[in-house]
Amino acid sequence: DLSGAQACHFFYFVQQWPGSVCDTRQSCCYPTPGKPSANFGVHGLWPNYNDGVYPSNCDPHSPLDLSKISDLLGRMQSEWPMLACPSSSGRQFWQHEWEKHGTCSESVLDQRRYFLTALDLKREVNLLGTLQAAGIQPDGGFYRFSSISNAIKAATGHTSGIQCNIGEDKNSQLYQVYLCLDSSANSFIDCPILPRSSCNSDRVAFLAF
Ligand code: 5GP
Ligand code: 5GP
Ligand code: 5GP
Repeated sequence: DLSGAQACHFFYFVQQWPGSVCDTRQSCCYPTPGKPSANFGVHGLWPNYNDGVYPSNCDPHSPLDLSKISDLLGRMQSEWPMLACPSSSGRQFWQHEWEKHGTCSESVLDQRRYFLTALDLKREVNLLGTLQAAGIQPDGGFYRFSSISNAIKAATGHTSGIQCNIGEDKNSQLYQVYLCLDSSANSFIDCPILPRSSCNSDRVAFLAF
């Protein structure tokens, strides 16, 4: 039964660093509105179970309906930019996230609330400001994994998942940050299970964008 009636245990709120999305062999394309600002962008809000399993594509009869979020599109473009090629407004990315993940928590967050919740979380957390306040700048320099992790924990009160990817120059670089929310997507919690991280302990690059 994929009706989505089965409640998830928690949500991952995942943000991506655009510099690291772009610094891979696959590269990236800027969305049609232009180069996104040098800030974290939303990747998605993902319902999950405590054992690490997650539901996906729960409702084929619930397509993305831009008319439900027309007033949010400006914020979506600046805070949830699509970096995959070919360039587009971002609609394909939002549609993918809604269909794959959003439809699995529809009983908790309808489509409008799904997008609005992610946008509001992004604003509330201010991940880049948190890191910069701790002296961790997106300047291509290297930082200890524990410095990044501790700064986020100090600001949010909770352990987060930090993922790195490998850049063209083979460095481990800050790529995505996972914060966890309770089953109603209301408050932050310690992640019941952390995603695979693959960061280097001593040398994590924080690329410029
Ligand atoms: P990757 O394999 O690149 O880590 O993830 C590919 C996609 O699978 C993600 O963009 C996301 O849609 C989904 N995904 C990966 N890991 C998780 C997870 O732990 N929980 C959920 N809910 N989705 C995940
Ligand atoms: P996931 O299944 O990993 O949540 O979503 C990733 C899908 O969204 C892939 O098909 C990817 O090509 C597309 N996509 C579009 N723009 C972006 C982006 O900026 N970041 C990521 N991670 N995926 C994007
Ligand atoms: P360290 O390796 O700096 O002594 O440990 C850092 C802490 O963060 C450990 O508790 C470790 O388990 C945790 N951690 C989670 N993911 C990673 C990762 O990808 N790299 C490193 N170095 N530590 C990680």
